[in-house]
Amino acid sequence: MLVRRLAHKLGYRYRLHCHDLPGKPDLVFPRRRAVIFVHGCFWHDHHCPKGRKRPVANAEWWDRKLKLNRLRDEAAVIALENAGWRVLVLWECELRAQDNLTDRLRTFLG
Ligand SMILES: [Zn+2]
Repeated sequence: MLVRRLAHKLGYRYRLHCHDLPGKPDLVFPRRRAVIFVHGCFWHDHHCPKGRKRPVANAEWWDRKLKLNRLRDEAAVIALENAGWRVLVLWECELRAQDNLTDRLRTFLG
């Protein structure tokens, strides 16, 4: 995965998919008390063209399901922040501009 490779290249040490943390963050940086989520736009209901797309069949069911996913994501961020973690959410649609991504990782992780 791109973010993983990039973080590694920048020299940050992380753990993967920490199951005892709310929302199971994709990358966990214990020493920096920081976590990163990498969200797919569709499954996590991003406000972008890809994220707003809905399957034609069962549109209402999907709408509810994806909205629940988003609410669960938001609750996880709040729970993490309350526990003293810093949280960065990266979206699938943002990962193309790699320079920008490098800057964001550096800014976030320090
Ligand atoms: Zn998106």
